[in-house]
Formats: sequence, structure tokens, C-alpha cells
Amino acid sequence: FSYFAPGPAKIPEEVLRGLQEEILQYKDTHVSVLEVSHRSKDFGNIIESTEQLTRELLHVPANYRILFMQGGGTGQFAAVPLNLMPRTGKADYLVTGSWSAKAAKEAAKYGQVSEVVPRAGRYVGVPPPATWTLDPQASYVYYCANETVEGVELQSVPEVPAGVPLVCDMSSNFFTRPFDVSKFGVIYGGAQKNIGCAGVTMVIIREDLLGNPLPVCPSVLDYTVTAKNKSLYNTPPTFAIHVMGEVLAWVRQEGGVEEMERRCLEKSNMIYSIIDKSGGFYSAVVEPGSRSRVNVVFRVGGVAGDKQKEAAFLEEATKKGLLSLKGHRSVGGVRASLYNALTIKDTRRLADFMVSYQREHRA
Ligand code: PLP
Repeated sequence: FSYFAPGPAKIPEEVLRGLQEEILQYKDTHVSVLEVSHRSKDFGNIIESTEQLTRELLHVPANYRILFMQGGGTGQFAAVPLNLMPRTGKADYLVTGSWSAKAAKEAAKYGQVSEVVPRAGRYVGVPPPATWTLDPQASYVYYCANETVEGVELQSVPEVPAGVPLVCDMSSNFFTRPFDVSKFGVIYGGAQKNIGCAGVTMVIIREDLLGNPLPVCPSVLDYTVTAKNKSLYNTPPTFAIHVMGEVLAWVRQEGGVEEMERRCLEKSNMIYSIIDKSGGFYSAVVEPGSRSRVNVVFRVGGVAGDKQKEAAFLEEATKKGLLSLKGHRSVGGVRASLYNALTIKDTRRLADFMVSYQREHRA
């Protein structure tokens, strides 16, 4: 079976095998890794090594703090404004899909939000930067690097006015390509999808942005409180942090984020090229320059998709062991999520299936 689900997680098989043993007993602790005290030296080593692996893999500069938080990406939709909005009371949002739209809506509870790239009926690309008007007085500029639902990905880091911190939601493409951390004020991502299981959200924040939350900011969403307490202000999601550490060790062993990027391109190009060569049997929805390397969204039976044809395609795929390819309920169609742990072999199975399915069902 190959599992193309967009969430909650895709974990490398090697990591899962290691976890099996650790769930029964972690090293020489005589207890499960699920039970190890979050105040113990053993857990201290887990969180420390997970942070160090992050610093190494992403070349995180010394003036950035790494936080392990709860509440998922949705928690961060609130945490970002709660911690950064007090700078000037207003913020710019690039709305390129459902997740950035949700983030902008949440932020509007805490300050004035300007949708620099406004909400669209259908999200199929990113309008050219020349059409954006960014406010040099904004508290921050926010964007989502990869819109998981629509499969819209920004292929480069947006330019922002000098002095305005750039905030990025990397929940679905974190650790799938190298990037320059120093261009950002805050980067965050839920571990699920590319670097672990649900339950922990990593935040990378430039130190000078700490210390100025809104007075109403809850302690669990407060970057300053979390940083001061080394992510141990309250009980952290210990197991999820451990899984993240193990997945990051796997990423390093496999060749780092550079290798993850190479694989992402190989996998997504394999599927997009079949779509593009299918003569309209399959249709990619997103403009070529914004096509996601991790969530490949496409239609069967025309650009708008044919519900019956798509249902038949999905049914046949499921029979062949290609699971969870159904598009998000809000957009329909087909979505193949190709996260780091989804192998090239899995992708090739899907590619072969798409070719033979078209051959058998050509009108
Ligand atoms: N941002 C992106 C890009 C996502 O894909 C998701 C969930 O899939 C979220 C945010 C929301 O994350 P969570 O479900 O952890 O709150």
C-alpha cells in the first residue's frame, strides 16, 4: 500500500520501527519513551538534540530561538498576532489559499489586517509581487509557503520592506528544501506531514522579536514565556518532540534538506509530467510557476473535473492500494501528498497507475 494522505503524518518506516522498541523501553530508563519525565536528563537530551539537528539542517543563526509549542498551525494563526501585532497594530497578509485566509481572519481579532494579496474565489497561483503594496509600517508580513489544500507553493522568499519582519507558515513544506533563515522574523510549522507526528509545532524566531506580546496573550501561546522556559513552561508534548528528533536524524542520514528537495522535485515532476502529457485526461489546476512540490492537485475529466470520473479514478486507485488520494472537500478532485517520507517508489506506483488508467479509460 502507498499512503498519499495530506495529514496527519507520514513517518519513515525506519523511524517507526525504532519507535516500536522505544515505546516498550527507552534506552536504559526502564520506562517507555512515553513515560520519561519531561524534567529528566533523558528528556533534556531529546529536546536538546532535536534543537541541534534543526540548527544543523537549516543552518539556523545563533540569534534565533527554536521553540516547541502546542496548538498546531491553528494555534500559531493566533500566536503570531498575539506576539507581534503590538509593534504597530497592523499587519500585511498574502492570502494565497485556505490556510493563509484562515490565518488572516484570526489575526484580524488582534489588529488591523491588510490582505496584500486578497482572498480569491479559487486559488490557482500567486499574483506577481509587482502587484502587492506592502506597508513599511506593518508589524509583519505574513505568508504560507505551501497551501496544502489547493497545492499552491511560493517558490522563493518574498521581498519585504526593510525592517518589517517576515512570518511564514511552513507547516506542509518544512524541511523539504533549504532556505535562508536570516530572511525571516518567524517561521513555524506543525511537525506532522514532513518532520514527525501531530502534537508539536516548531517555531523559529529572531530573538529581538521576543518580549512584546499583547497583554492578553495566553502563556501557552507566548513566545517569550516559551523561550524563557526552554519550551518547558508546562508539560510539553514529549513523545511528539522525540518523534521529531528521530525524523530529523533520518533526514540528516538521508542527505539533509538538500536531498529532501531533490526527492520532492523528482516525485512531483514525475506526476506533473504525466498530467501535462495526458492531453487533457488529467488537468493540473495550479499555474506552473506556483505548483506545489508536496501537494499535487489535479482533476480528471477536464479542468473543472468530472465528479463521476474522479470518483471512478479514486475507487480504482484504492483497489490498487494507492490510498487517500481524494482532494480536499472544499476543492474536490485528486490530491497526491508527497511528503518527505513518501518514497520515490510509492510515487512511481502512482505514476504507473495514472498512465495505465488513462490507457484503459481513454474516451
Ligand atoms: N497551515 C498549513 C499550511 C496546513 O496545512 C495546516 C493543516 O493541515 C495548518 C496550517 C493547520 O494546522 P493544524 O491542523 O495543526 O492546526
